[in-house]
Amino acid sequence: MVFDYDLFVIGGGSGGVRAARIAAGEHGARVGLAEEDRMGGTCVIRGCVPKKLMVFASGYRAQMDDARVYGWDVAEKGFDWSTFRPRLDAELDRLEAAYRRGLENAGVTVHDARAVLEDAHTVRLSTGETFRARHILIATGGRPFLPPIAEEAGAMTSNDVFKLDALPKSILVVGGGFIACEFACILNGLGVEVTQYYRGAQILRGFDDEARGHVAELIREGGVNLHVGTDVLEMKPVDGGTWVKSTDGREKVYEKVLFATGRVPNTEGLGLEELGVELGRRGEIVVDEWSQTAVPSVYAVGDVTDRVNLTPVAIREGHAFADTVFGSKPTKAEHDLVASAVFTQPELGSVGMTEEEARDERPIEVYSTSFRPMQTLFAGRPDRVMMKLIVCAETRKVLGCHIVAPQAGEMIQLAAVAIRMGATKEDFDRTVAVHPTMAEELVTMRKPVRTA
Ligand code: NDP
Repeated sequence: MVFDYDLFVIGGGSGGVRAARIAAGEHGARVGLAEEDRMGGTCVIRGCVPKKLMVFASGYRAQMDDARVYGWDVAEKGFDWSTFRPRLDAELDRLEAAYRRGLENAGVTVHDARAVLEDAHTVRLSTGETFRARHILIATGGRPFLPPIAEEAGAMTSNDVFKLDALPKSILVVGGGFIACEFACILNGLGVEVTQYYRGAQILRGFDDEARGHVAELIREGGVNLHVGTDVLEMKPVDGGTWVKSTDGREKVYEKVLFATGRVPNTEGLGLEELGVELGRRGEIVVDEWSQTAVPSVYAVGDVTDRVNLTPVAIREGHAFADTVFGSKPTKAEHDLVASAVFTQPELGSVGMTEEEARDERPIEVYSTSFRPMQTLFAGRPDRVMMKLIVCAETRKVLGCHIVAPQAGEMIQLAAVAIRMGATKEDFDRTVAVHPTMAEELVTMRKPVRTA
């Protein structure tokens, strides 16, 4: 069979781009890639990158308040979205171009078009062209899920935040996951009056309970009007925004309503089921540990497979796929001990097991401390940092680490190295503290606060 390409990648996000670059640049494969939207995908265009820049923007208000206490004469005139937004757009343009250049430099042919599968080796583009490829990689990512009530009322998703012409005066954020909590904090920091509804008992389901409680408390202290056990019952557009009635009977008009109620894989209309590619209950592509689907020539990586939906994981999966299929180097992407950070204010950094997971499995010791960090204590702020280690009582290995603190994302990356190497509590104890820092508390917790 004659093929136009050794590999055709559908989707130019983190996973697809990495796979294409490694397959072409390092393993010499002939690679084509189709992207229907902007190159870079969710992370670069409407996710991690613009979000993090907004996190930075939103942090300055508190820093300016602190600066005054530290003796700086700071005059604050407020946040100007119209200054920030064009700079954000320009940065995303720069990154998008860099992604495209990286692909082209690796020898990948980029098609700015939507691609669908015609058979196990053929893709058809929206331009009308068809290409035959020995292997096809689906890396189409995911998109925000809106419940019908929100869709009907024209609620926003996280995609829309970056495109706002102006910041609203008030917003209701619905959801209690990564995205809802991050945007509640960002918008609050930028001066928007933020209310957040979460239907469950505590935000950030899946994270360590103590850490969740700590984050929730500080989010509230920071000014977000967070209501748990609360959901939207009715909503409709009215003059000046959206009228919302909640399950606790409250009625209020918000200028904007943002739903951050999860994401769904982009698998519709690609011709997958017709081909025999198995889809899961949420529409995700079912793959084995090599990212191979039920159709041997078709692979999938990233959020479209709904494994661990994080950019660095998609990148690992894409890289492992390229090494396995084109580099004669069978590699599986690892999905355990993946550290993550929720960029709330303060941040939550987490790696390994939660206390709840660990204690169901084996005897554990829990080391935990909460304190007011030097920098904000001096400024008179009530912020408290939390550091927690979950230790196996038998092997002494540190099973999990959870940090709620400014820069927790930076700290957890390093803790993750030690934990992946199998560090014991005694290894942490032997490590001399870096003083004065917040992170030194990780190596100075002497006594367990409880055993389980
Ligand atoms: P999550 O799955 O984390 O959270 C979805 C939230 O919406 C949950 O609180 C869920 O409640 C709630 N919810 C779901 N359906 C409804 C509904 N019909 N009505 C009301 N509430 C509902 O999704 P996100 O959208 O926040 O993020 C998607 C993924 O993106 C994350 O899981 C993460 O993998 C990734 N991400 C990572 C980031 C990072 O690394 N910093 C940042 C942003 C995203 P319940 O808990 O009850 O199910």
